[in-house]
Amino acid sequence: MKALDAIVIGAGAAGMMCAATAGLRGRRVLLVDHYPKVGEKIRISGGGRCNFTNIHATHRDFLSANPDFCRSALARYTPRDFIALVDKHGIAWHEKTLGQLFCDDSARRIIDMLRAECGQADVEWWQPCDVRSVGRHGEGFLVETARGAVEARSVVVATGGLTVPKIGATPFAYRIAEQFGLAIVPPKPALVPLSFDPDFLARYGDLAGVSLEVEARCAGGRFRESLLFTHRGLSGPAILQVSSYWQQAGAHEPVHIDLLPGVDIAAWFAAERRSRALLASLLAERLPKRFAQHWCTARGLELPVAQLGDAALANAARELADWQVRPTGTLGYNKAEVTLGGVDTRELSSKTMEAAKAKGLYIIGEAVDVTGHLGGFNFQWAWASGRAAGEAV
Ligand SMILES: Cc1cc2nc3c(=O)[nH]c(=O)nc-3n(C[C@H](O)[C@H](O)[C@H](O)COP(=O)(O)OP(=O)(O)OC[C@H]3O[C@@H](n4cnc5c(N)ncnc54)[C@H](O)[C@@H]3O)c2cc1C
Repeated sequence: MKALDAIVIGAGAAGMMCAATAGLRGRRVLLVDHYPKVGEKIRISGGGRCNFTNIHATHRDFLSANPDFCRSALARYTPRDFIALVDKHGIAWHEKTLGQLFCDDSARRIIDMLRAECGQADVEWWQPCDVRSVGRHGEGFLVETARGAVEARSVVVATGGLTVPKIGATPFAYRIAEQFGLAIVPPKPALVPLSFDPDFLARYGDLAGVSLEVEARCAGGRFRESLLFTHRGLSGPAILQVSSYWQQAGAHEPVHIDLLPGVDIAAWFAAERRSRALLASLLAERLPKRFAQHWCTARGLELPVAQLGDAALANAARELADWQVRPTGTLGYNKAEVTLGGVDTRELSSKTMEAAKAKGLYIIGEAVDVTGHLGGFNFQWAWASGRAAGEAV
């Protein structure tokens, strides 16, 4: 039987980073993944170009029941560190917006880079290979796999969350956590489009494809990005971002949307008070025309501005600045970018990701209750937590 220093289960972003880090420190490492293809989440990320980090990343860009947990690992492996690695491999990149860094050509470059790092670190790699069980064996662990049993001093669980099951996501990490008595913050789909009731869809469903810049907020999250109408409700970066906060707050709070962020709507209406233009035409100067028409029709405001009463105009101004919508749910794990919740970080060391109740067991990446905003933060957490465990095993 093989005897190793560490077995890393899950060869995604966090697992590859961890295995390479440990291997380069001279540790004997085995990386095991059940899925036939390597790094599928990386391949499909960022529209195929992988938004691999965000230069502005701080612990404030993450949701968790234990918000300070991620500070230590993020401070010790920063976006600059990952950029240095990308540069070392000659991968061209660019900043798209808001500090988000993408590959110039393809996300595959990041997968190739991590594979090369693992190769250089002499990481042994079994993929595809099912992991059947993980059990205690003396001070270490015995892991039963489809290719035989292996012994190791440490086990690192890097099997991710529940998003996009068709490319290999499983609840493996939560099962291992339960087996070793670690608490779990209930997982939920996050960074996910929101769905609405038939009444909302009857009013706005045919705006599918229309997008506008808004400021969306919910339960402490506030994001000025674009919103997209869809056949099933609302999506776009602003909505994906607030979806995580909506889920964290229990999925019953309204989402507040400022449809004209930065505009003093009352002053604008006052300046146009005598206008003979329809309100919808006035709004169409700053909002998509189809949306402006729907919005006015839904409120019976299909009149010239000059003919609208003061109260009606004041109400319209208030509602444009604070359109409150009540989602009925989300489009679920198939459409989510990330899983909110996961292994409770209060069970883990923030320096090493090791479980206090199970010495030698480490949990990293999306499997843990640390969920980034949209924009490269989730990969930064995968790199940083993978690095932290890789330096400790
Ligand atoms: C469509 C999409 C786009 C995204 N775009 C971005 C982006 O541009 N920027 C960003 O920062 N984040 C993005 N994300 C989020 C990001 O991909 C994840 O947060 C990140 O991949 C998590 O890394 P991880 O290593 O923890 O898990 P994963 O990358 O999910 O890797 C987990 C690995 O474990 C393996 N595994 C699962 N179960 C088992 C098991 N039972 N036995 C063995 N192996 C198992 C899987 O096959 C997989 O290889 C995106 C997500 C999606 C779905």
